[in-house]
Amino acid sequence: MSQNIVPRLSTSSPRALLRRLHDVMGDVGDPQDRLRTVVHEIAANMQVDVCSIYAINKTGNLELFATQGLNQSAVHKTRLKPGEGLIGTIALTRTVLNLEEAGDHPKFVYRPETGEDAFHSFCGVPVFRSGRVIGVLSIQTREMRAFNTEEVEALQTISMVLSEILGAYPDTTDLDVSRSVHGRPDPVILTGLRLVDGVAIGEAVFHQPGVTIENTVAEDVGEEKTRIRDAFKAMRQQIDQMMAAADVGHSGEHRDILQTYKMFAFDRGWADRIDGAIEQGLTAEAAVERVRQNYRSSMQKTKDPYLLERLHDLDDLSNRLMRFVTGRQQTAASMGLEGDIILVARNLGPADLLEYDRAYLRAVVLEEGSPTAHVTIVARAMGIPVIGRVRNAQDVIDSGDPLIVDAETGEIYINPTADTIETFEKAVAFKEARALRYREDRHLPAVTQDGVEIDLMVNAGLKADLISLEETGAAGIGLFRTEFQFMVSSTLPRVSAQEAFYREVLEGADDKPVVFRAVDIGGDKHVPYLNRGDEENPALGWRAIRVALERPGLLQLQLRALIRAAAGRTLSVMFPMVADVSEFLAGKDLVDRELEFCDKLGLTKPKKVRIGVMLEVPALAWQLKTLLPLVDFLAIGTNDLLQFFFAADRSNPKLADRYDLLSPAALNLIHQVVLACQSHDVEVSVCGEVGGRPLEAMVLIGLGLHRFSMSPSSIGPVRQMVRTLSAGEITAFAQSLLYLPDHSVRHAALDYANTAKISL
Ligand code: PEP
Ligand code: MG
Repeated sequence: MSQNIVPRLSTSSPRALLRRLHDVMGDVGDPQDRLRTVVHEIAANMQVDVCSIYAINKTGNLELFATQGLNQSAVHKTRLKPGEGLIGTIALTRTVLNLEEAGDHPKFVYRPETGEDAFHSFCGVPVFRSGRVIGVLSIQTREMRAFNTEEVEALQTISMVLSEILGAYPDTTDLDVSRSVHGRPDPVILTGLRLVDGVAIGEAVFHQPGVTIENTVAEDVGEEKTRIRDAFKAMRQQIDQMMAAADVGHSGEHRDILQTYKMFAFDRGWADRIDGAIEQGLTAEAAVERVRQNYRSSMQKTKDPYLLERLHDLDDLSNRLMRFVTGRQQTAASMGLEGDIILVARNLGPADLLEYDRAYLRAVVLEEGSPTAHVTIVARAMGIPVIGRVRNAQDVIDSGDPLIVDAETGEIYINPTADTIETFEKAVAFKEARALRYREDRHLPAVTQDGVEIDLMVNAGLKADLISLEETGAAGIGLFRTEFQFMVSSTLPRVSAQEAFYREVLEGADDKPVVFRAVDIGGDKHVPYLNRGDEENPALGWRAIRVALERPGLLQLQLRALIRAAAGRTLSVMFPMVADVSEFLAGKDLVDRELEFCDKLGLTKPKKVRIGVMLEVPALAWQLKTLLPLVDFLAIGTNDLLQFFFAADRSNPKLADRYDLLSPAALNLIHQVVLACQSHDVEVSVCGEVGGRPLEAMVLIGLGLHRFSMSPSSIGPVRQMVRTLSAGEITAFAQSLLYLPDHSVRHAALDYANTAKISL
């Protein structure tokens, strides 16, 4: 093997070559002639025997578009499939191949029409446009030798310019061959974590859209250097601002990611490499992209997960820098998009999500995200399916890709086949038709076959939820999660703002009852202005009433706002996470004090004030005899109650299906609570997720529950179940489940529903 690695390419003058190529691009005349000039110029400048350009043709194959050194008769004849031969391998793997002896590579295929048997060494680089592979640029020599790093990099720089040339060539297409073997992109399935359930079909839209480079060759190197310096400065300022926002928990980005961004943003090595690419003759944006391609190819090779993460951060930051260089700063939300949109982002803040028009937003795919992140809670409230923790989603998905998001399995189908689309379209259409039927039935009373009235209410938290009262025909709002207003604000909302918001809710609900839950923050619901420090078990930590009682400024002001907003109306307010009677009494005391204060100021008080409690901590179930005479109503928050009852974290997906409400233990607990409430004549309801599931609600009705509050989309199915149920019959059945030895009585409940022809 030859050790001769003397650089033969005149890489000392790539700028002159780039300028020359730029001039060729500007020439009028036959595009084929121009390409021929391009390969000739490259071969001459780099002192190689062969230079060839392969571009993706309309059928998705790599076609020899121009060559200097191979047989001219092969032009537009030699074609390789993605993955076939060296050229196809470069396109498919998106990486550089640098070989002393091309014929030794296992993927080498010999095409006699090219006459390439005369050449030994080979170097080929992919040509990208907007992140897609659109062709391959290769050089070859007769002599068997290795190309050095400088030469390979020069070839990559030239490929940037070629991307502009090919992008303007009429017969190429920009199919991404790295995903295609048949001339159209293959379907790919990604998986992630189910954050908000649902199914959606739409087109991928990046929250921060990518930038297409229009000009690759610098007119004035000094000017390009100024552009990149200004862009770095602006980007660094933005990161500092984001860090300040993260300190108050109001940013979509995690603080540790921002730390990494900051490290890279001030990294001289990165800036120097971009400067170097500009000196070679590229524009600032082409230089950013050029350097990014190197990082990307390292990403492809590395197996080290830590390094991969950091390269990923750098990739993300390159996008930001590119937007600053080109001045294209807007997010997709500000671009007034229409159609069915699936939003793709690394992460989002709750406020970012609220900027999107609900009429078009179908689903969200995040590279990060967690079940308890603000954005997830807000998306759930907006009824938008979300899949999170989808690794490299922004690399694998391209803007405009057709996507199916199945947040019920956690799968994302990219470029789905016609069959898959049809299946999902049917699923979506079925769901929509059912939703429409439920809407049409919204005026039907939720009364059982034997005349027992069941109150179906909605859980809400956003102003936008008010419309669901009308759309579902719900009896009222059984749980208004007031903390949403606190979570989307970077500072504690002022009393006047809270009051105005609550008044709007009460007015929007017309005369239907609304139960406000006193602010339930802490645990998984962070607010920016509450410094809680780290907690090992936040769900068991400083949250809800525990915070509220220790920060009376928070609860007291909220109660003041609620009392004023409900002037002349009924105010229902309940306290979350109460563990003992004294906590309830402390909360009630604050209400009484605020009512007195209202009197003192001569303000109109609510016509009636009802004070309730949420049963979420099991300890409270053993104090009902003392508690119930003091309360106006009790709401069973099964989400929290069951996690504490079974000692199973509600946000841990591994435990999601482990324990069942439909188990003798949980049903017994609820039965005892219902009996106690009945004997004290206290209204009792269920407002956790289980109340919105027809099968669970059926059994709970059997245990004597007649009031449920649930997600708006659950009202229709539960109403339908209620109308086919006999409360008398289910009572006997539900009692029969209480002392079974089973882990779950779900099957028995399903059998019952089937036999009794109950619509689930
Ligand atoms: C619950 O815990 O059941 C509940 C309704 O409250 P949240 O889900 O808001 O904690
Ligand atoms: Mg709760």
